[in-house]
Amino acid sequence: MKRTIKSSFNCSRDNLNRLFACNRISALVWNKILEIQREKLRSKGDLQKALKGLYPINSQSVQAVTDKYCAACLATKSAKDNGLAKKYPWRRKRNFPTTWKADGFKFLENRLKLSLGIFAGKRQKPIEVKLSKSTLATIKRGKLQQISLIWDGWLKLAIIIDDGKANAPAVQSDVTCGIDLGEIHSIAAFETSGNTIIVTGRLLRSVKQYQLKKLAELSRKLSKCKTNSRRHKKLRRAKRIMLQKTNAQIRDLNHKITRSFVAWAIENNVSKVYVGNPEGVQRKKHRRVVSQKLSRWNFGKHMEYLEYKLAAVGIVFEKISEAYSTQSCPQCGRRHKCTSRNYRCICGYTAHRDIHGARNILSLGLNGKICITTPIKEQKYLRTA
Ligand SMILES: [Zn+2]
Repeated sequence: MKRTIKSSFNCSRDNLNRLFACNRISALVWNKILEIQREKLRSKGDLQKALKGLYPINSQSVQAVTDKYCAACLATKSAKDNGLAKKYPWRRKRNFPTTWKADGFKFLENRLKLSLGIFAGKRQKPIEVKLSKSTLATIKRGKLQQISLIWDGWLKLAIIIDDGKANAPAVQSDVTCGIDLGEIHSIAAFETSGNTIIVTGRLLRSVKQYQLKKLAELSRKLSKCKTNSRRHKKLRRAKRIMLQKTNAQIRDLNHKITRSFVAWAIENNVSKVYVGNPEGVQRKKHRRVVSQKLSRWNFGKHMEYLEYKLAAVGIVFEKISEAYSTQSCPQCGRRHKCTSRNYRCICGYTAHRDIHGARNILSLGLNGKICITTPIKEQKYLRTA
């Protein structure tokens, strides 16, 4: 299984400047692609030919920009096909992550040599960076596949490693499960025999609220002082450090939350998980306030983590359209918005709001419509940390 780790590194000042230059050059490649495509649409092969030998970075790094451009176009096309409003790549960039593929780097002891290839007939001096012990230990457990130079508050390396482990064989059982992703309850789940779990996301939410508050506070202070003054620099540094810390906490919590759900799924012998895909529905309909936007970003993270964590243990993960799954009554089909902890309908049906949503998604996945499948058994609450 492939996974990505983010890592900081050490290098000489000269090499650091050259790394910054790499990302500027990659941005030039990106901008050039936009220019070429505006003139006349070309295939990936033609694009690669047109860009060959123009830039002083590894030819594979140039190709990687083309790959990313083409992937973005494909994603836009499929979004458009699904009726979503999305634009083809158009924004010019000043920096773009540089990628080194398998032949583009060499690994020596604790150093990494990033090749810049041949430019104007001359082999260029590679860039050397030093990695931390913990990163080295992780890398040594698998096979290094790709390295990208990214911006994450500072220059960092995103390293893709294949740990050589295959995913577990598919779980054989007829237990299926529906899950509902939300902000206060991060994951609510309901499986075919009636067991449920709610993984709460209160801590996650409070960290995010703290981050927003601090960010607003620092931005306000920043706007009051002169650009590049000593105080301005100090505040910018404080902002960077705060973001790094809170982002790490958020990432940690996201892993914890998804991990505890996966553990529950294994315990209950679940073979397939249906998840309501909030993306299409929300984007099409309306834009909500900032807090909603933020949680949407988290939906994405939870989706992403669940996808690979479930695959690793042999559980199928399927996204389905969640149209009205939280609003519909499974007994009579009436629709109304739920405002309290419990969903109540005038026909007499009541259920815990989050479990109600998860059960409706399971019903949608299994029957294609919302109806009552199984009564709800015990409710299990899990708080993350
Ligand atoms: Zn009803």
